[in-house]
Amino acid sequence: MDPRRLVPRTDAVLADPRLREAAARLGRAIVKAAVTSAQQEAREGTIAPSSVADAAFAALPDNATGLRPVVNATGVLLHTNLGRAPLSDAARAAVTTASGCADVEYDLATGRRGPRGAGALAALSAACPAAEAVQVVNNNAAALVLAATALAAGREIVIGRGEMVEIGDGFRLPDLLTSTGARLREVGTTNRTVARDYADAIGPDTGFVLKVHPSNFRIEGFTAETSVNDLAGLGVPVVVDIGSGLLAPDPVLPDEPDAATALSAGAALVTASGDKLLGGPQAGLLLGRRDIVERLRRHPLYRALRVDKLTLAALEATLRGPRPPAVQMLHADVTDVRRRAETLAKDLAATGIDALAIDTAAAVGGGGAPGVELPSAAVSLPAAYESPLRERRVIGRLDSGRLLLDLRSTDPADDATLRTAVRAAREET
Ligand SMILES: *Cc1c(COP(=O)(O)O)cnc(C)c1O
Repeated sequence: MDPRRLVPRTDAVLADPRLREAAARLGRAIVKAAVTSAQQEAREGTIAPSSVADAAFAALPDNATGLRPVVNATGVLLHTNLGRAPLSDAARAAVTTASGCADVEYDLATGRRGPRGAGALAALSAACPAAEAVQVVNNNAAALVLAATALAAGREIVIGRGEMVEIGDGFRLPDLLTSTGARLREVGTTNRTVARDYADAIGPDTGFVLKVHPSNFRIEGFTAETSVNDLAGLGVPVVVDIGSGLLAPDPVLPDEPDAATALSAGAALVTASGDKLLGGPQAGLLLGRRDIVERLRRHPLYRALRVDKLTLAALEATLRGPRPPAVQMLHADVTDVRRRAETLAKDLAATGIDALAIDTAAAVGGGGAPGVELPSAAVSLPAAYESPLRERRVIGRLDSGRLLLDLRSTDPADDATLRTAVRAAREET
């Protein structure tokens, strides 16, 4: 008899108690799609008709999104393709709280409307006392668009030629800024821009002077850039896009700009990303002079760029809670990272796997500190492990014909996950 006729009908498979429970949790469409694909495998003979329900159940996603958690063992702390900063447990718990109905714009004491996101804004103010006022929008790009629109639409933004940067995936800050109706007045040259260049360009049409941190490249050699301090004396607002989200100086990254320093030097407004070195959710932070921040908040565009309750909750918990993973990884002692790599490599080698611990250089990532090498350690494996480990959602990096699992960018709690994944991957190498 044709085995295809033994393939169970969809209704019969969906009656399996495990799949019924999954349909209640994930929605019927996702479960049905898994059943259809398992039936197809049975028709093609790759699985037995009697295992359709088992195969469908095994193929179900953990949740109703297509997003899958991964271990970032690339050694790039803030990996844009892997979701940038992982949230702290405190921030994850806050997101869960906010995901229901919550008093995001409501005063529980009076029963009246309350200021939206007051907790997150207070936490941001407390974390950066140099700012008179703060606001939060969707991301740093949105912060720049809002500043350009509210302060310079139909007017000029004066910017140094060495700071006309592309942030990634083809997005260029100059295009973003001019899309608001502001005009760019480029000054200086690629490698050198001095205070005089800015002073000569400033006039009645100037909306503001913009300084952008070149956060993903470095120019070396015969270079000059003008300090915020020097620009602040020119009589127009200075907006500083610091990029990474450091609110105060960090000794580990001495060349990375921070909000407190820029504000003390006279910046009227600082913009930054919440999901880079701050280690929080995607957000655009606006910190600066009260009148300017208030002007931005009053602009109609603000309403289109504001953040949702989940972001407000995660940001507040990131600022008030324990150090988030990205900051812990940045500050991890290399001897601890090395010890973890040695333990893991030894465990794997004991079962005959060609694994060794090596010293490596990790990087902060697109989020900042270009060219800075963070001392790190990795488990080095044959390159053939790359694909089977990726199937198990462990992402390393290939280097000189080996696969490196760099441990500075992973949570120490994931070491056991890595061990299990490498052992399972071995069968497929
Ligand atoms: C990352 C970055 C941006 C864009 O920030 P998003 O939060 O991704 O929108 C803008 N400017 C600089 C200097 C950056 O590093």
